[in-house]
Amino acid sequence: MPLGRGKLSKIWLVIWLNDHLVKATVEGDIRVIAAVTTNLVNEAHERHKTLPTASAALGRVLTAAVMMGATLKGKETVTIRVLGDGPAGAIIAVANAEGTVKGYIQNPQIHLPIRQPDKKLDVGAAVGTNGMLHVAKNLSIGESYTGSVPIVNGEIAADLAQYYLDSEQTPSAVSLGVLVETDNSIRAAAAGGYIIQLLPNAKQEIAQRLETNIQSLGDVSRIIDKGLDAEDLISQIFQGFNIKFHQQVNLDFRCDCSQDRLEEVLISLGPEEIRIMIEEQKGAEVTCHFCNKVYKFPENDLVRLHDEIRD
Ligand SMILES: [Zn+2]
Repeated sequence: MPLGRGKLSKIWLVIWLNDHLVKATVEGDIRVIAAVTTNLVNEAHERHKTLPTASAALGRVLTAAVMMGATLKGKETVTIRVLGDGPAGAIIAVANAEGTVKGYIQNPQIHLPIRQPDKKLDVGAAVGTNGMLHVAKNLSIGESYTGSVPIVNGEIAADLAQYYLDSEQTPSAVSLGVLVETDNSIRAAAAGGYIIQLLPNAKQEIAQRLETNIQSLGDVSRIIDKGLDAEDLISQIFQGFNIKFHQQVNLDFRCDCSQDRLEEVLISLGPEEIRIMIEEQKGAEVTCHFCNKVYKFPENDLVRLHDEIRD
């Protein structure tokens, strides 16, 4: 954990470094996406009241999803579902091409002892080492794509790399990190990641140089904690390479739920369930899984819905 950094520099960082991602092509043969996601991970932490290990697990999945989202177009979306056998339960994130992501973790109140000897949050133990990672892409008009792989180690990055290899036949280096404050705030000090993909014609020599660079770089969250942005991160990973940067996208945790959408959820329960809500509770409260916002449906709304369905 970082030592000796004052509150002032932290405020400065928060103001300066909005969440963002950058795409680049390196030597014409490597695609890379890097993202800084500290604020959106904290937004998720506040909405879902996550403890540190859960913050890190959810934060890594959100970061993965928002980077995958950057490979989409228009109104396309990607959903990552991590269904491991650990205490965290299901972790789900949905992202789009515009840099917006939402997500939740089934058991947000998970905090496990710091793992030894690497002193990291034990995301693998929280997620579990058995289970599946599913990726579903809603592509333009009517098309969809799904791919699933068994979980490798529950650390998310290796699991996603396995997905890319098995389901998209694309060898990839994936790094995801969330550094959580050691003080009582339990906020994320830094979060982010990168995905590097070598195109089929990439030279072996380039792959070897890249591997050496990645190894000497260290944890992605610690690099971001030093104040580096996504472009700096790519420059560090690809020191000595010819880099062409593409567009930068601002990132945001945002949910698209609404009273109308939650009304559809109520309708799907059927008239009998709604009748019980009217008689026993005189109304209903429906909470959005993704953002924890509570929608209230008073009795007269439920009566209207009940009559609509029955008719
Ligand atoms: Zn919502």
